[in-house]
Amino acid sequence: MYDPDQQKAFFERSKALLNGQDILTDEDERAAELRQLLKFHEHRYYVMNEPLLGDTEYDQLFKQLERLEEQSPELITPDSPTQRVGSDLDGDFVSVPHLVPMLSLGNSYNAEDLIEFDKSVKRMLNIDEDQPLAYAVEPKYDGGSIALVYEDDLLVRAATRGNGTLGEEITANARVIRSVPLVADFSRFGFRKVELRGEVIIRKDKFAAMNAARAKQGLSLFANPRNTATGGLRMKSPAEVATRELEAFIYSLGIATDENGKDALIDFGTHTAALDALTALGFKVPKANIERKHCNDINEAAAFCRQWEDQREKYHYEIDGMVVKVDSLALQERAGYTSHHPRWAIAYKFAAKQATTTLLDVEYQVGKIGTITPVAKTEPVNLAGVSISSISLHNEDFIREKDLRFGDKILIERAGDVIPYVVKALDDLRDGSEVPIEYPKACPFCDTALVRAEGEAAVRCPNYECPQQVLQRIIFHVSKAAMDIDGMGKRYVEQFFEYGWLNSIVDVYRLPYAEIEQLEGFGTKSVEKLRASIDTALENPLWRLLHGLSIHHLGKKASQLLAANVQHALDLENWTEEDFLHIKDIGPTVAKNVAEWFANPGNVRMLREMEFLGVNLTPTDADKPKAAVTEGPFVGKSILFTGSLQQMSRKEAQEKAAAAGARNVSAVSGKLNILVVGEKPGSKLKKAEALGTVEVMTEAEFLERVSG
Ligand SMILES: [Zn+2]
Repeated sequence: MYDPDQQKAFFERSKALLNGQDILTDEDERAAELRQLLKFHEHRYYVMNEPLLGDTEYDQLFKQLERLEEQSPELITPDSPTQRVGSDLDGDFVSVPHLVPMLSLGNSYNAEDLIEFDKSVKRMLNIDEDQPLAYAVEPKYDGGSIALVYEDDLLVRAATRGNGTLGEEITANARVIRSVPLVADFSRFGFRKVELRGEVIIRKDKFAAMNAARAKQGLSLFANPRNTATGGLRMKSPAEVATRELEAFIYSLGIATDENGKDALIDFGTHTAALDALTALGFKVPKANIERKHCNDINEAAAFCRQWEDQREKYHYEIDGMVVKVDSLALQERAGYTSHHPRWAIAYKFAAKQATTTLLDVEYQVGKIGTITPVAKTEPVNLAGVSISSISLHNEDFIREKDLRFGDKILIERAGDVIPYVVKALDDLRDGSEVPIEYPKACPFCDTALVRAEGEAAVRCPNYECPQQVLQRIIFHVSKAAMDIDGMGKRYVEQFFEYGWLNSIVDVYRLPYAEIEQLEGFGTKSVEKLRASIDTALENPLWRLLHGLSIHHLGKKASQLLAANVQHALDLENWTEEDFLHIKDIGPTVAKNVAEWFANPGNVRMLREMEFLGVNLTPTDADKPKAAVTEGPFVGKSILFTGSLQQMSRKEAQEKAAAAGARNVSAVSGKLNILVVGEKPGSKLKKAEALGTVEVMTEAEFLERVSG
C-alpha cells in the first residue's frame, strides 16, 4: 500500500515533528500532513501489526493533531483520525446497542497532567481549588472490553466494545469465561437491569504456558496476551474460547435501573462502593486497597499511579496505565461527557516501553574474563523517561538473527522497564545505504584473536594480560560484590589505571598515596578515607578475596564453599580437580577453572604478594558454614526492616532474625512475610500495607518474638 520511499519519508517526517522540527506554518497544511502521517501509522499498527513508532510516539503525534483541531475546529475533516472511534465491528457478529455508550478516556502521562485534570474537574463542578476531591484509581487492563447485561439477576447479553455505541453480541463466548457469573443477586439492591463494564484478559503466565504448548505442537505462536484475549472473545466456537483461559475484570457499573426503569445506580454514592458491591456479588473486581484504591485527593491518586508504574512488571496481567475516576457518582453525573470522553475520568498512561531510533555504530566492550559485548550506539531517544543512546546487543548471534546493519532504523524496548533491548530492524525503511556489521576477529584492545568456547554464545579475548580485562578485573575486585572497598569506585580505578598505578589487583594494596594526594580533587582527608577503606578490606572474609580474583565461573556461592573448605587460600595450589569435586555443589567447570588458575605460578605469586601487603588469606568466622536454623519463631519466613531502629543496629536486627530462622530480604514484594517498622518508616510500609499480605510489627514486638 505504501512504497518504501514513501514509508521512509513518512517515518522521518514523523520523527521530525515529534522532535518539534520543521513544523509547517500553514495550519491547513499542518493538519493535512498530520492526518496523512497518522493514517500511515494506523495502517502499520492495526492492519499490518508492525508499528514503526512506539505507542507513546504515536499518541504524541495524535495529540498534535488534536490540539490543532481544538484551536481551529474548522480544520476537522470527517476522515481525520481524531474522529474515529475505535471499532472492531466486521459483520461476523450481530451488532447490538450498548445501554450507555462505551467511551474512551483522555490520557495523562505524569503527575502534573493529573493535577491539571483535577483543576479542570473542580472548575467544572464549581469546587474550590483548595478543596480535596476524592478519586478512585484502578489498573487500566490491556485486553478486550466487554459490556455485560444482567436482567432479573441473569446474564442475558454480552457485547464487545464495538464502535462504542454498537457492540458485537458475544453472549455465548462470554458464558464460557469462568469469572463471569451467569447469575448474580442484583435484586438485593433492587436492581432489575444492569450493564457492567469490564476487560477480558489473560494472565501473563497462562499466556506463556499456552504459547509453550503451541510451540510443542508446532502451531504458530500468539503475538501477545492482548491480541489473544480480544481474538479469543470473537471466536466462532465457544468451546475454542474456553481453551484460552480468559478472565474478565469488571471495573464499572455502567447503568442500573429498578423495576420502574428508574436509574438507581446513584444510590451507591461512590464508584468504590459500587465496585465493593460487585465484589460481594461474586464478580472479579480489582482488589480493594491493593489493585484499586479510594484516594482522598489527586496527590494520593498520583502516588498510587506511580506505585503501580514501578510494580507493573511484577503484576500477573498486562496493564498500560491506571484509570483515575471522580469517586462520587453524583459528581460524575454533574460533570457529564464530551462526545469522546467522560469528563470525570482520565487514563494515566505509563511511560513508553518502545521507541524507534537509528543505529549509528557498534562498540565492543571487553569484560573481566574477556567476554566481548557489542554495544549499539544510537541516536539519542527518550524511552520510559530516560534518554537512551547505547544498548547492549549481547553477542554476535543476536546481531545476525536480527540482521542489524549500520544506519538501520531500529525499534527498541525497555523490557521490565530496566534494560533497553533492540526488538528489530525496521527493514521496510532501508534504502540500500545500510552496511552489514562485521564482527571483529581480534580483541579491539590487545589485538589477540578472539575465541568462542563450544556451546557458548559469547566470544572471548583469551589474553589474561589484556589491558582492558585487567582494568575490568580491578573494577570488579574493589566493587561491593567482591572486596567492597568503600569509596574506591570505577572512576578512581580508571584514573589510577591511566596513571599506571594499577597494573593488577595486587596494586590496589600498594597505592602511591603521596602522589594521589597531589591529584586535583584529592586532599589529605579523602586519601585518608581511601586508605582506611582499603585497610578495612584487608581483614575481609576469604570468600570475598576468592570471588574478587575473577576466576571464570567462580561465583559468590562457589567462593564461599571453597573458603569454608581450606585453611589458607594457597592450599588450593595443591588441589587436583578431583579434590574440588569432593565439595558438595562444586561442579567440574568450577573445578577445572580454579585448578587452572592456581596452576599458573604468576597467580600464586600475586596472592603471596597480597598476603605480604596484609591481605587476609585465611578463613574468618564469616567463612565458616552456618548450620541452617530449623527451629525458631520465624522459620520459613522472609523478613525486612524499615525505618530507624532504636534498640539495635540494622545488622544486629538481621542477625537476630536469621538466628530465629528468618530469611532477610531487601525489598517489599508479594513474597515478603514480615515487615519490622522502626521510626519514620517510608514507602516500604505503604507498599506492604497495600499488598495486604505482610505482617507488620514494631521493633518491640519483634524483640519480644525473638526472645520469647
Ligand atoms: Zn584483549
